[in-house]
Amino acid sequence: MMTITFKRQKCIGCNYCMEIAPRRWQMSKKDGRSNLIGATDKKGFWTIKLGEEEREENERAASACPVKIIEIR
Ligand code: SF4
Repeated sequence: MMTITFKRQKCIGCNYCMEIAPRRWQMSKKDGRSNLIGATDKKGFWTIKLGEEEREENERAASACPVKIIEIR
């Protein structure tokens, strides 16, 4: 089991996460920020629990994020 936490308010809309892990990240047409698909919002921190099969691509997305707002545990 892994957990992704995403501080969406600080997203600068660079697209990297979506390009690296498209099954989990999608850019919003409304505000240009990324959406963590399937996540729930708790006071600005979007969180989802997933199986280990998505860990590798999401760790790469987290490393690529220029503002370091994606955390994988
Ligand atoms: S890589 Fe980071 S800043 Fe870029 S779109 Fe994804 S969450 Fe936003």
